Amino acid sequence: MRYVSTRGGMAPRPFCEILLEGLAPDGGLVVPDHYPKLDPATLERWRPLAYADLAFEVIRLFVDDIPEDDLRALVDRTYTREIFRTEAITPLTTLEPGFHLLRLSNGPTLAFKDIAMQLLGNLFEHVLARTGAELNILGATSGDTGSAAEYAMRGKRGVRVFMLSPHGKMSAFQAAQMYSLQDPNIFNIAIRGVFDECQDIVKAVSGDAQFKARHRIGTVNSINWARIVAQVVYYFRGYFAAIAESGEEVGAPVSFAVPSGNFGNIFAGHIARMMGLPIRALILATNENDVLHEFFSTGRYRVRASAEVVQTSSPSMDIAKASNFERFVYDLVGGAAGVVAALWRQVEEEGGFDLVGTPYLANLQEFGFVSGRSTHADRLATIRDVQQRYGVLVDTHTADGIKVARDYRDPATPMVCLETAQPVKFAEAIREAIGRAPDVPPGYESLESLPQRVEVMDPSVDAVKAFIARHTGD
Ligand SMILES: *Cc1c(COP(=O)(O)O)cnc(C)c1O
Repeated sequence: MRYVSTRGGMAPRPFCEILLEGLAPDGGLVVPDHYPKLDPATLERWRPLAYADLAFEVIRLFVDDIPEDDLRALVDRTYTREIFRTEAITPLTTLEPGFHLLRLSNGPTLAFKDIAMQLLGNLFEHVLARTGAELNILGATSGDTGSAAEYAMRGKRGVRVFMLSPHGKMSAFQAAQMYSLQDPNIFNIAIRGVFDECQDIVKAVSGDAQFKARHRIGTVNSINWARIVAQVVYYFRGYFAAIAESGEEVGAPVSFAVPSGNFGNIFAGHIARMMGLPIRALILATNENDVLHEFFSTGRYRVRASAEVVQTSSPSMDIAKASNFERFVYDLVGGAAGVVAALWRQVEEEGGFDLVGTPYLANLQEFGFVSGRSTHADRLATIRDVQQRYGVLVDTHTADGIKVARDYRDPATPMVCLETAQPVKFAEAIREAIGRAPDVPPGYESLESLPQRVEVMDPSVDAVKAFIARHTGD
């Protein structure tokens, strides 16, 4: 398997060479030069596998430059009961026949991002140990990515993390999770601005090739390819669990509902579908920041200005543009890199593009995507209803997914709603929905009263560069 750029300007490279990047030198995103295709016999063989075994089978198809024994050991070390506090790693809860919740948030930071990030931590350690190199990870987070990255990298040899977050815009629990870490290799930087300003700073710093090389900067943000690959695994796991619940055979269609922001999670579902997993619909749910719903319902992609981004009660989906979306468009235009490059020139110059009247819009149907939008009132009503009806408390993001899933429910097709975080991370909204705070899981009781370590800064590329330079010892 080799990786190329969505914009065509990168010679094919193997997995380990793109592991620390995500962004190709031509400004595009790295993508595999093909998707592995599975036959029904392989799906049948994968069906009974435990999570780590399944993860190894899926991931090895995308990684051919790590020896199989090493990869096996690394995957086994990642997907354990100790880290994910459940044997199943991603257990399926049936809310009612044919309507399920796939629980992805049992890792250390109580959000689905741990599933990919824990693997990434072990991959980084492996690759760095091989080369003896050091790595300074620079990232931007609206809450869940940053903490997942920090918990995956804390104490890892040769790795430092510099994580930018929007000052005062995360929930108290999310902020405490990150800022309470005292590990000397973890640096939290709170930017007086919104998430997209943090992301722009990361892009600007990474775009300075000289600075990037000198300070050995890498990223773990949502465009990181290894994260996407790790997320493909649970679509298979969720599929097998859902058909088992309904007594169906391999081959029966299943739909997935995914609360979406940067299009990473649902893009992994798209890959699983391209590999041959019988996914009928990929249901994309946005909150009030509906860039993606607008595209999938109209064919128009319009990036929002930072000032247009609304702060919502599902903050991990408060985005102005969807960073992984370019990867999907590459598939939508049949891998025509020149077309992708032209479309993203248009994004830069005019703030978006319109596929209405192009042949590509017709292709959209073939990929199984449908979309919907959920609002603050919708998510509160959904949290309340799911709690009353099934006795299950879900977080605000998961509620957005369930809300839109219900709008598209087809009784003949099992529906799997992805649970992306635990309610305790968004306690304020839960209290508003059900009149009481969510239970705090064991081990997290005193988190918010721990001392915090964070540097607050204006949105300045130079200030961030200076901070990194000061703390990397050269
Ligand atoms: C990151 C996140 C999302 C959005 O996922 P994308 O991969 O960015 O689409 C949804 N819910 C939660 C809780 C998240 O942390």
